[in-house]
Amino acid sequence: MGCTHQDRVLIAGNGQAGVQLADSLRAEGFSGDLILVGEEQALPYQRPPLSKDYLAAGGAAPAPLPLRGENFFTDHRVHHRTGVGVTGIDRDGHTVSLSDGSVLVYSKLVLATGAANRNLSCPGAELAGIHGLRTLADARAVHARLDAVRSVVVVGAGFIGLEFASAARARGIEVTVLEYAGRPMARALSPAMSEWFAAAHREMGTDLRLGEGIASFTGDDGGQVTAAVSTTGAAYPADLVLAGIGVIPRTELAEAAGLAVDNGIAVDAHLRTADEDIYALGDCASYPQAHAGARMRLESVQNATDQARHLAKTLLGTHGPGDAGYAELPWFWSTQGKLKLQIAGLSAPGDETVLRGDPEAGKFSVFCFRDRVLAAVESVNQPGDHLAARRLLAAGRSLAPEQAADPEFDLKAWSKAVPVG
Ligand SMILES: Cc1cc2nc3c(=O)[nH]c(=O)nc-3n(C[C@H](O)[C@H](O)[C@H](O)COP(=O)(O)OP(=O)(O)OC[C@H]3O[C@@H](n4cnc5c(N)ncnc54)[C@H](O)[C@@H]3O)c2cc1C
Repeated sequence: MGCTHQDRVLIAGNGQAGVQLADSLRAEGFSGDLILVGEEQALPYQRPPLSKDYLAAGGAAPAPLPLRGENFFTDHRVHHRTGVGVTGIDRDGHTVSLSDGSVLVYSKLVLATGAANRNLSCPGAELAGIHGLRTLADARAVHARLDAVRSVVVVGAGFIGLEFASAARARGIEVTVLEYAGRPMARALSPAMSEWFAAAHREMGTDLRLGEGIASFTGDDGGQVTAAVSTTGAAYPADLVLAGIGVIPRTELAEAAGLAVDNGIAVDAHLRTADEDIYALGDCASYPQAHAGARMRLESVQNATDQARHLAKTLLGTHGPGDAGYAELPWFWSTQGKLKLQIAGLSAPGDETVLRGDPEAGKFSVFCFRDRVLAAVESVNQPGDHLAARRLLAAGRSLAPEQAADPEFDLKAWSKAVPVG
């Protein structure tokens, strides 16, 4: 049964997912109490620019891009508490305790607690000048030092590490990237696209070291990092180190409350935990992913936003008949220098891949097929391919690998065509 006007929805975490949920609940007509609690001091802001435009220029730190305008929270009657964490859940009493000592009652509790940076643990990891990049505070700390920095080492060639590397290169800083795996962004990209990006970063002037992890850091007498030593024994000068080695979902509240955790707070297709009054979504939650046919946790704006829209309807019972749960197509973007990477769907190891477009010109897509059925499309500077792919994948339509590879094949028309039968 959906929420009624007397109900109180309490959302722990005011990031992309939490703020969208508050917005969508009001848009769907929820008239009860809406409480949004966030431990960061800042008004909710967009994280994606923090590893991109935010760091691109020197001088004064830019203002963060807000998730909503200043008046949004009062206009939508959202009781918004910033700088306060949810510290515990009493499931029987239907209350949460907050870091300021207060206790709040809820009818429905939504955990939108996101994720935290995974920290380095090698010798020297405690030196000053070694940063993560998750929050506005992290980005401000990095921005404040970049003007004075000549060389940086990035640990991890994932999206955030490579976005940062491109921004640093654009400012003329020497960049070394250390990556354990044999190719960049290996978790998310097909080998073909991943290898193309390796070459592109080298062309930008980044010293990309694959198959080479971090072993230790050395520092000066003041405790400031000066070099990174890799698993090969090589030392790379570093006035600043950026650790981009992934995140850990913020599951601590759920765990302490006895809720199941499985690489994230475990929820069902309706984003509900085993407690019928507690839900979880966004970066902190693992859910049965309809397109992958497996439980997973996704870290993207699309996932956080679409799950929030879906959950608002679930909480209010406004889905209409036959709702089988959250099943939106995953998509993602990353901007690395002038390269705009867009991904639709989820690729997997062993997918057959087909190129379309012109890799030499930096405008192409990799189409990934599983058993000759389209599973994912990765595009660089090809927004048309990305949109067509999203339409096809969301509709469960495919095309033959030969068609994808054929430059004469009208992909846009095919993606818009109504299936026969
Ligand atoms: C630098 C960076 C660049 C990114 N770039 C892209 C991109 O280009 N494209 C893309 O699709 N995605 C990108 N992402 C990922 C995207 O930003 C996240 O997937 C998205 O923000 C997830 O939203 P969320 O609400 O689940 O978590 P978050 O945005 O992390 O919000 C969770 C909030 O909950 C708060 N919180 C946690 N525990 C508590 C508690 N107990 N009490 C109160 N508050 C709590 C946290 O402090 C945090 O503010 C990027 C992320 C980062 C960090």
